[in-house]
Amino acid sequence: MKGNQYMLLPGPTYIPERVQRAMSRPMINHRGAAFRDMQEEILAGIKQVYRTEQNLLIYPSSGTGGLEAAVANFVAPGDKVLAVSIGVFGDRLAEIAETFGAQVQSIKVPWGQAVDPEEVGARLAEDRNHDIKAVLITHNETSTGVFNDLKGVRRAMGNHPALTIVDSVSGLAAADLRMDEWGLDAVVSGSQKAFSIPPGLSFLAFSERALAKHRTNPQPNFYWSVDFGMEYQAKGQTPFTPPISLYFGLQEALRMMLNEGLENVLARHDGYRRLVRNAVQAIGLNPLADAVSASPAVTSVWMPEGIAANELRQYLLNNFNVVVAGGQQSLDNKIIRIGHLGSVRELDLLAVIAALEIGLRQMGYPVELGRAVAAAQEQIFQGTGDRRQG
Ligand SMILES: *Cc1c(COP(=O)(O)O)cnc(C)c1O
Repeated sequence: MKGNQYMLLPGPTYIPERVQRAMSRPMINHRGAAFRDMQEEILAGIKQVYRTEQNLLIYPSSGTGGLEAAVANFVAPGDKVLAVSIGVFGDRLAEIAETFGAQVQSIKVPWGQAVDPEEVGARLAEDRNHDIKAVLITHNETSTGVFNDLKGVRRAMGNHPALTIVDSVSGLAAADLRMDEWGLDAVVSGSQKAFSIPPGLSFLAFSERALAKHRTNPQPNFYWSVDFGMEYQAKGQTPFTPPISLYFGLQEALRMMLNEGLENVLARHDGYRRLVRNAVQAIGLNPLADAVSASPAVTSVWMPEGIAANELRQYLLNNFNVVVAGGQQSLDNKIIRIGHLGSVRELDLLAVIAALEIGLRQMGYPVELGRAVAAAQEQIFQGTGDRRQG
């Protein structure tokens, strides 16, 4: 009997019991007062996480749906856009824009690195006629475990009028993001990452500038229309039937998060980042990201010469019921990715690191057992900030 899995994916993530219980409540009328009150509380809560006082819609979709909504509403067919890609998800956002008829120019950064904000600034400075209508950028690149300095990028864009459209599906609530202060125009996130509820909801926050763009955008829309969404939100409803159980879960997860305090949530994630990096480095493994741009949500680790990442993952699953992610595309079988976002627990991370040591040694990599675990324990001892109650 293996019991629950140690699931350390960069989404879906561990669901706290309180959230699980909230989601088992009976249905309510989605056009009634109880739903209206719940939605009001939820919107206020998510806006705190986004640090925005602007518009926010919730879509019943995976994260990609939220990205499609941002493009469909705020990018017009034929618009020139600058897509900054530092990995698989950056490429995906560019592909969505292309699908909707945008003329996409790209900045492609070698995988494992963040974009240099000055490079984005320089590209926009060259665009004297302001032909570029939007900059598309990933906040936290889940495929590599690297986060972009959004604040720096936005600052480097200066007074160029392009909208800033951000994929923060795996970033929000794990890495700092200040939508209004930094001047971001559209920011997308998703339920199954740091929000610690199941997959199925995406969030789209957008500025008045983005809304103005939508109002003149000839791109047709139905399901993703922000007009429909805003019209129904004003009545305390959603245009189409919402996944009510997920709303129950979201309400509870936000209460937990805000009760813990957003600063504490972010500090806890930063602690996880240091914990996992210190642990793998203690046994001679190399993280993909350098320390400055290493993600607080997921750590990618190069496998040593001769160790097949997917074989190791299979060993961890078979022997310890441990689930970690593999590499995508060119990184397949070369790295493992350890997710540490949402309601992950320190001792689950310790357990997975212990299993990793055994797995590596089993596969022929010389590990002095306990070294990585000790490094992780040391990090916890020094205080990762995880002192949650309840
Ligand atoms: C998870 C994720 C997405 C969305 O993936 P879905 O499978 O559509 O939920 C998009 N961008 C990033 C950076 C992600 O981590």
